Amino acid sequence: MSRQSVFAYELTWPEYDRRVRGGDTPMMIPVGALEQHGHHMPMHVDVLLPNEFARRVAEKVGALVAQPFTYGYKSHPKSGGGNHLPGTTSLDGATLVSALKDVIKEFVRHGVRKLAIMNGHYENSWFIVEGVDIALRELRWDGIRDVKIVVLSYWDFVTDATIEQLYPDGFTGWDLEHGGVLETSLMLTLYPDLVRMDKMVDHAPASFPPYDVYPVNPDWIPASGTLSSPRNASKEKGDILLEVCTSGIVDALTAEFALEPKARASAA
Ligand code: ZN
Ligand code: MN
Repeated sequence: MSRQSVFAYELTWPEYDRRVRGGDTPMMIPVGALEQHGHHMPMHVDVLLPNEFARRVAEKVGALVAQPFTYGYKSHPKSGGGNHLPGTTSLDGATLVSALKDVIKEFVRHGVRKLAIMNGHYENSWFIVEGVDIALRELRWDGIRDVKIVVLSYWDFVTDATIEQLYPDGFTGWDLEHGGVLETSLMLTLYPDLVRMDKMVDHAPASFPPYDVYPVNPDWIPASGTLSSPRNASKEKGDILLEVCTSGIVDALTAEFALEPKARASAA
């Protein structure tokens, strides 16, 4: 008999109810975006990657994975190319905050007490924190005080040693990695059929003045839509990134939720 899916929405409601009632099973919520990712990748990279990290981590720690948020907060010129670019389709900050708050409170109503928000889009970061904060505040008003929420972005688990190994010519920072080596390498490992390296645009890393201007000046952004070149991306780098981030997230959730990974996984 095959094991049950880790995707919560693939269960029947009685199966789901058995898993989440009592609060032991962590629920992981991937939060992505619909955003252009250059000429060589599709626009749902920021959904695919956190969803797949969540699936892999859930297998190891006995968690469930919720339906991902497939839209996110607006793309910023310095971290996503900007919200003026064709295809990029975003939510207002208040919409994302409110929707995430609603979903967190629904899972808590079902019995979930351990949640992990898996961010895949840089610009979502503070809006996730706000949704989490408001959800916890409203739950406290309802007398519910035993909910713990881990908030993470998978790229923060890349270690300094891995950065040195993967970026021998120097690392420009995660914000400029939009459509660059990190995301492209992970996509080459996980979804090679969705990557078209023959279409990639090779260019110097974007450089910005130390301030922002609104309305956005499109001339600041490389015409490709990426902020650094994907030229040095490879499946080998993707394999390393996948391993280091997955194991880092497993360790974090195991510690924060006091889980026993091996025992949980085999008992699931
Ligand atoms: Zn991205
Ligand atoms: Mn993004």
